Amino acid sequence: MSAPVRFLPLVDTHAHLNLDAFAADLDDVVARSRSGRFPEIRGRRVEDALFRPFVAAAVCPAVDLETSLRSLELSRRFDVLFAAVGIHPNHAALAEPGDWEAIERLALAAVDGDVKADAANANSANSATDTTDANSGVSSPLDGAKLVAVGETGLDRYWDDAPFDVQSALFLKHLELGRRTGLPVLIHSRDANDDLDAVLRDFYADAAPADASAPSNSPNFPNSPKSTSPPPSPGVVHSFSGTPEQALAWTELGFYLGFGGFVTYPNRKFAEIAEAARVAPLDRILLETDAPFLTPHPLRGKLERNEPLTTAFVAKRIAELRGLSVADVVRQTTENAARLFRFPTLPTEPTEPTLV
Ligand SMILES: [Zn+2]
Ligand SMILES: [Zn+2]
Repeated sequence: MSAPVRFLPLVDTHAHLNLDAFAADLDDVVARSRSGRFPEIRGRRVEDALFRPFVAAAVCPAVDLETSLRSLELSRRFDVLFAAVGIHPNHAALAEPGDWEAIERLALAAVDGDVKADAANANSANSATDTTDANSGVSSPLDGAKLVAVGETGLDRYWDDAPFDVQSALFLKHLELGRRTGLPVLIHSRDANDDLDAVLRDFYADAAPADASAPSNSPNFPNSPKSTSPPPSPGVVHSFSGTPEQALAWTELGFYLGFGGFVTYPNRKFAEIAEAARVAPLDRILLETDAPFLTPHPLRGKLERNEPLTTAFVAKRIAELRGLSVADVVRQTTENAARLFRFPTLPTEPTEPTLV
């Protein structure tokens, strides 16, 4: 007789399912994420056959206005997908006049349920917004959508696609919008962790706990909406690539840390990231893929593109680093994501609850 299978509901907190890489087969990708069936990784067990991971929720970051609207649309179509709106630092120089303002209106309207802001959005000069409204036959891109975050935004010196001062200015606008709406901000940082550190310390200086040794889970935002329990967090530094010291400093400021492919890579240059994942407070750690990018070890180079279910391999690596079971890491990180993004009740079982 075999023991009962334990289901592990994962949250992929950063999956670019709104990019063209997934346009042709998104239904299949979501279906197999949700069911935990992933033929490409058959035989590569996450722990043992008694554990069956599946994706219970995924947050879909935006890189520009078009993908912001697409993220909203996907969150309407799929119960397990949640939306974010924003402009990626590498797209900062490509944004058209009015794009940022359209994104701002969406976030504000989503939070306020402000009909006037919504109407203003529909009447804006931005054709992408208008086209969506006309084609979908709904009154607003927000109708039935599940907007849970602002982003992704941040700083990137690795690709250097936009002047750094343009990235910085747009980043601050996202942080302001996060503060105004109470929505968590999805922060990207590549080869810019010292710059990011300076911005966060400055912007959230008034949010730091008075007693630095006190637990850091109660940042106090002067401008946040009426406080709920637990208090809101300013967001997540996704695909964390900083030092262990930065991991601790940023969680002290109230941030969550998203770990993905980097933490699984055996190369020595990623050792510091693994150390950060080992020492960061467990109640501040999130799992992510950054799909279609950053496929985790041991699938790196073996998959054409990364997809949400490989989050299980990130969980496995963090479990190894911290001396925990995969089940414990999944349970805790899913709880963390639900707290940060204020998810509704998530599914606890895969869609096809039989082993394949
Ligand atoms: Zn990113
Ligand atoms: Zn991303």
